[in-house]
Amino acid sequence: MIERTFVAIKPDGVQRGLVGEIIKRLENVGLKIIGMKMMWIDKEFAKKHYTEDIAKRRGEHVREMLLDYITEGPIIVMAWEGIHAIDVVRKLVGPTEPKSALPGTIRGDFTHVSFTHADAQKKSIKNVIHASGDGKDAKYELNLWFSPLELHTYRTVHEAHVM
Ligand code: GDP
Ligand code: MG
Repeated sequence: MIERTFVAIKPDGVQRGLVGEIIKRLENVGLKIIGMKMMWIDKEFAKKHYTEDIAKRRGEHVREMLLDYITEGPIIVMAWEGIHAIDVVRKLVGPTEPKSALPGTIRGDFTHVSFTHADAQKKSIKNVIHASGDGKDAKYELNLWFSPLELHTYRTVHEAHVM
């Protein structure tokens, strides 16, 4: 049940000064941060994260827009650990479209645009954060972004009080 998941604060999240706020929300529920760094990636690397799979699911045009978005500035990449961490982080993040994301979620509280608006602008939806969608993606993404030595094992107080 203890899972690891990959989270990235996208360029808009970094530029809007939301890094502390986002980390606070994940820490608040007792999730454990086990790796973190700032990176400014190029399109070649971005293609490894946003693979052909995203083109199949959302369309090639969305993949192209995403590659521009994720490379437009530095991002904060993180590995988080906890019970059902993949689903719990997705719950805190909220759904893909900010317009539909409920208040209380990161996307619902800090963004509001719609698919229709972003598509008309020919821009990726700027929704401040990425989080792995499932176990397969989490494994692939953690391995892509972090070396084993960059991920740490330690005890938090939550292991005594929450878990
Ligand atoms: P996520 O897992 O909730 O981030 O959603 P996906 O993995 O399906 O899509 C990756 C990212 O592509 C989203 O977070 C958005 O930034 C962007 N995106 C997805 N679908 C669309 C779309 O239909 N239009 C636009 N403009 N951007 C999209
Ligand atoms: Mg996704």
